[in-house]
Amino acid sequence: MDTALGDPLMASNDTASAGRAPAIEARGLVKQFEGTTAVDGIDLTVPEGAIYGILGPNGAGKTTTLRMLLGIIDPDEGVRRVLGRDDPHDIARLIGYLPEERGLYPAMKAVEAIAFMGALRGVPLAEGRRRGRELLEGHGLGHAADKQIRQLSKGMAQTVQLLGTLVHRPRLVVLDEPFSGLDAINQGKLEGLIRNLAADGTTVIFSTHVIAHAERLCEQVAIIAGGKVPYAGSVDAARDRIPAQVRLETRAREGRWRDALPADARREGDYWYFPLPETGIEPLLRALIEGEAGILSLSIERAGLHDAFVDIAGEAAARALDEQSPAEAVQ
Ligand code: ATP
Repeated sequence: MDTALGDPLMASNDTASAGRAPAIEARGLVKQFEGTTAVDGIDLTVPEGAIYGILGPNGAGKTTTLRMLLGIIDPDEGVRRVLGRDDPHDIARLIGYLPEERGLYPAMKAVEAIAFMGALRGVPLAEGRRRGRELLEGHGLGHAADKQIRQLSKGMAQTVQLLGTLVHRPRLVVLDEPFSGLDAINQGKLEGLIRNLAADGTTVIFSTHVIAHAERLCEQVAIIAGGKVPYAGSVDAARDRIPAQVRLETRAREGRWRDALPADARREGDYWYFPLPETGIEPLLRALIEGEAGILSLSIERAGLHDAFVDIAGEAAARALDEQSPAEAVQ
């Protein structure tokens, strides 16, 4: 991969002329904290209008990466360009950011909290209130508009904060672990909200340690482990790194057809399991039929993003991910 941003990225700071330039491009980002390397040379390209996931266990460097992209902290090394700008502060009003640490003023009414967040991004308060009510109505929280934050459930308050990050109609939305702390129903609603944002042309980048969210929502992901990105690209291509698995059930237990199964085929109960041969399924099917195996069932299952994650980031990173996920994740 390139170690420096290429010409087209260095050429212009004019967002209007950016056309189809990526929403985010970063090369070689490095960040150390007191001698610990939190982020160790990360490259990312987030296409405009994409839903992009940064997937990795706790401590992998997700938050640090997002903060560098937003200009909250500066990288020690590397460059990033966000919505066509080298300095993310120039376009702060085009960005909506939900930090990992949630928090709103407990005494504020929900609608006021949203209007307040909008005001910080240049939306006049009256307009922010109008939009706030609209957003709350649109997300099933119309009844909560005039309630204080302290009167809301944790999930509701989190949704209010999320709506506050959208009130100025940002072009780029950055969500740090947005699913954490939400129950299954609200996680589903948030997935819907993210899809709607993308359908309207908004770019959404979010971090998560739950593979299922990234797999369901994203066309592209960056897999992050130990401050490095061993994979950035399409979810499909990540899954295709691993051969699909075949599951076969036959009436005959023995026969000549057994020679046609790959050497690494393993038997579990009534089924044979093996990776789809490179030659495809047809030659095998022919051998099974000619050898009178009596096919009772046969399925070909594509590898999931979890298998791809194990392949890319290793067992240890995958275990760390799994250990964090079960309680809160909707798989
Ligand atoms: P989490 O979801 O747990 O926040 P993460 O993937 O977002 O995980 P980061 O928060 O980016 O990871 O942290 C990466 C590493 O950098 C961790 O080892 C963390 O302890 C360290 N780190 C992050 N911020 C600081 C800081 N301000 N000072 C010192 N160390 C930090």
